[in-house]
Amino acid sequence: MPEKVIIIGSGPAGWTAAIYAARANLQPLVFAGRPKQTPSIILPGGQLMLTTEVENFPGFPEGISGPKMMSYFERQAVRFGTRIVTDEGLNPDVSNPDDGHSYKYQDCKSVDLSQRPFKVVGEDGKVFETHSLIVATGATANWLGLPNEMRLAQTGGGVSACAVCDGALPIFRNKELAVVGGGDSAVEEATYLTKFASKVYMIHRRDQLRASRIMQQRALSNPKIEMVWNSVVVDVLGDERISGLRLKDTVTGEERDLPVSGLFLAIGHTPATSFLKGQLELDEKGYVKLRDPGRSFTSVEGVFAAGDCADTIYRQAITAAGMGCRAAIDCERWLADQGIH
Ligand SMILES: Cc1cc2nc3c(=O)[nH]c(=O)nc-3n(C[C@H](O)[C@H](O)[C@H](O)COP(=O)(O)OP(=O)(O)OC[C@H]3O[C@@H](n4cnc5c(N)ncnc54)[C@H](O)[C@@H]3O)c2cc1C
Repeated sequence: MPEKVIIIGSGPAGWTAAIYAARANLQPLVFAGRPKQTPSIILPGGQLMLTTEVENFPGFPEGISGPKMMSYFERQAVRFGTRIVTDEGLNPDVSNPDDGHSYKYQDCKSVDLSQRPFKVVGEDGKVFETHSLIVATGATANWLGLPNEMRLAQTGGGVSACAVCDGALPIFRNKELAVVGGGDSAVEEATYLTKFASKVYMIHRRDQLRASRIMQQRALSNPKIEMVWNSVVVDVLGDERISGLRLKDTVTGEERDLPVSGLFLAIGHTPATSFLKGQLELDEKGYVKLRDPGRSFTSVEGVFAAGDCADTIYRQAITAAGMGCRAAIDCERWLADQGIH
């Protein structure tokens, strides 16, 4: 018997879709993804597994750690009958988030959407058939891939890839911070950080920004932003907390240290959709194209998308969760139209 719905992804979008689908009696099957380092770290639970403090998700007045919040999402989905593809079957015990159970979760390796039911292939080669599919694979923030950068990002040491998410944290207030990047989103992040920081250095490998003219003007005219041209970060300094950056001049090759109390990467995102190429319509950057903005329908009927893999603008946990809810409701109604309940 084909599955009614398979969900790929276990971030806020995937688990929310699973909660709604499970409560609608669709017994969803989730590919939660294998932990990996590529060089960005990708974990079951998604991007929030890389953040220590989530302060903007409603319902947690004191804030909550990203991994803890995602373990709550997972347990809530499983409570209503969600199954998860693991190396050892479909019903893992998720009651203890720290027992390493998620290391047995599998990636979805490929899909065949050219025939119905759709075929979804796990890492071990096992093929699942399904009437519908929800893609919620996220978009990974790009990191530099430096060991100290990743260590401090994962331990709340003042390194982040999301200014809107983390900029307001007390550790960054009235401090000198750095943003790496030169595009529109780097200017947006740097400008946002000037609300809290005493100064923001924008570190860029060239001698002019890639950003649009209007955004360049915004950065260059902001008295709190100082440009650091022709520079790349070769190391992040500090033990428990970031204390500075080692910079290399891209013209002279000279190295120097820049003291800062926070580092924000703004060098783009990579949607985790390469396995969908040729199956589903993607945009030029790899984001899943939605047929109708505000809904979750994709180019293939019966395939729905949710979260950051289909969102180039907001990329927040709450918006991803909202999109997961939409996808599950759209999916449930579409299945009902096909006579599948
Ligand atoms: C450092 C950092 C801090 C952040 N802090 C905040 C914050 O404080 N508040 C906030 O609202 N937002 C924050 N964000 C943004 C937030 O994390 C994302 O917007 C949100 O996680 C997107 O959810 P998602 O479900 O779409 O994707 P993700 O969370 O990225 O989850 C995608 C999931 O898909 C899985 N996956 C990918 N490919 C496959 C495959 N082939 N097979 C199976 N599984 C697969 C991955 O393993 C992952 O579990 C932060 C982001 C970063 C990088």
